[in-house]
Amino acid sequence: MRCRGSRSEVRDQKSEVKNQKLEVRNHAAMSTSEKLQTRCVIVGGGPAGMMAGYLFARAGVPVAVLEKHADFNRDFRGDTIHPSTLELMYELGLLDEFLKQPHQEVRELRGVINGRTVPIADFTQLPTHSKFIAFMPQWDFLNFLSGHAKRFPAFQLLMQTEVIDLLIKNERVNGVRAKTPRGELEVRADLVIGADGRHSTIHTRAGFRLCEFGAPIDALWMRISKKSDDPEQSFGFFQHGKLLVLLDRGDYWQCGFVIPKGGFDEIKARGLPQFQNEIVSFAGFLRDRVTELDDWSKIKLLTVQINRLREWCREGLLCIGDSAHAMSPAGGVGINLAIQDAVATANLLAEKLRSGPVTVSDLRKVQARREWPTRLIQSMQVFIHQRVVTGQASGSDDSLPFVLRLLKWFPILRQVPARFIGLGPRPELFRSPTVG
Ligand SMILES: Cc1cc2nc3c(=O)[nH]c(=O)nc-3n(C[C@H](O)[C@H](O)[C@H](O)COP(=O)(O)OP(=O)(O)OC[C@H]3O[C@@H](n4cnc5c(N)ncnc54)[C@H](O)[C@@H]3O)c2cc1C
Repeated sequence: MRCRGSRSEVRDQKSEVKNQKLEVRNHAAMSTSEKLQTRCVIVGGGPAGMMAGYLFARAGVPVAVLEKHADFNRDFRGDTIHPSTLELMYELGLLDEFLKQPHQEVRELRGVINGRTVPIADFTQLPTHSKFIAFMPQWDFLNFLSGHAKRFPAFQLLMQTEVIDLLIKNERVNGVRAKTPRGELEVRADLVIGADGRHSTIHTRAGFRLCEFGAPIDALWMRISKKSDDPEQSFGFFQHGKLLVLLDRGDYWQCGFVIPKGGFDEIKARGLPQFQNEIVSFAGFLRDRVTELDDWSKIKLLTVQINRLREWCREGLLCIGDSAHAMSPAGGVGINLAIQDAVATANLLAEKLRSGPVTVSDLRKVQARREWPTRLIQSMQVFIHQRVVTGQASGSDDSLPFVLRLLKWFPILRQVPARFIGLGPRPELFRSPTVG
């Protein structure tokens, strides 16, 4: 484990603060204004930020979500909506409408391991209304959530607004500075929430210490077209420590190929035909179209990280989601965890924030609540990296690892990974207040 960052870096940033009186603007005036004051500003419109924004606005807390991109249409983000999130949608009265959006429902996860199909997780016995994982493009999920959040007068979403710095006065964070197409914008708030993902500007500018747990893998992502008679897939193929994940996106497969960390250059040096053959060795039915991958620009490298902040908060600032703890794709639980952080944040802070600022000890309660599930999941991810994905446990023969044999022999055991993936440890129930 490696940790970096220190409090002394933070003090240097105090000089950034301008002691000027802020104008309070209403929502409509904001787009032309250089200054905005609100109760809570959330940096990042990913799953954590958008859910927190929705829940705060629903509770009547004035909130602005700042997102650096112009839209949510980015590929190769996780597309898994877990039963716990679907249950939250149910509690919010949004489930029926949500499930009208195009999606696939996966009730059981199966992997093809060294050529043998192994059932891994059975979601059908979960104590939730939706007993499946919904695969839905993340942009549809975020558009849905932001569309509903906009119905609350307390909510505003500013796209193309990239936060570049924190505003700090007397060691207290009291806002952010952002770049927009119209120029710079200062947003002052009683609470800043960093939900800006694993390359977080917020946690860096706050000087938070980050502990890295190392991830021995990276992932290559690409698209290959899908045919109507392709075999159904519900997870991926493991083969002697290598892994190909295929996600059904309607007319194409989103393929994730796990490689050793830093190994992309070596793969490129071996050439595209060799890479195409390797894909086919996992999923033979792709043989007739693997040549669609005819240029390396069609294959995107996504580096995998596992890390966690020592402190998730300081006066005026809280980090949640990947900004507080970057997750590996292993187990497909990062989105779930990010959303659970958002629910806990709203549960613990919304009531108080509605009437004024929250203290750092209020913010620490969020970390205290969410750190334990995060540690547990990250430990599992490190284990999966070491023992399953990189093949230390799979050996070179075709035998199944013992745990997987147990899952094959005793169906009831498949409920354990189903709970872990589908609900996560310490699932949050929606408790924040509601207005309107
Ligand atoms: C290759 C890969 C595949 C994955 N697959 C899955 C999966 O299938 N299922 C799963 O559950 N998890 C998966 N994960 C993990 C998952 O993507 C994350 O855990 C999850 O997205 C975290 O959500 P978040 O809202 O905290 O952060 P993000 O989803 O990273 O969202 C952060 C948002 O902040 C915005 N932003 C960043 N900086 C700024 C700034 N300075 N100003 C304004 N906005 C900013 C970004 O544009 C983004 O919209 C995967 C991870 C990787 C690396």
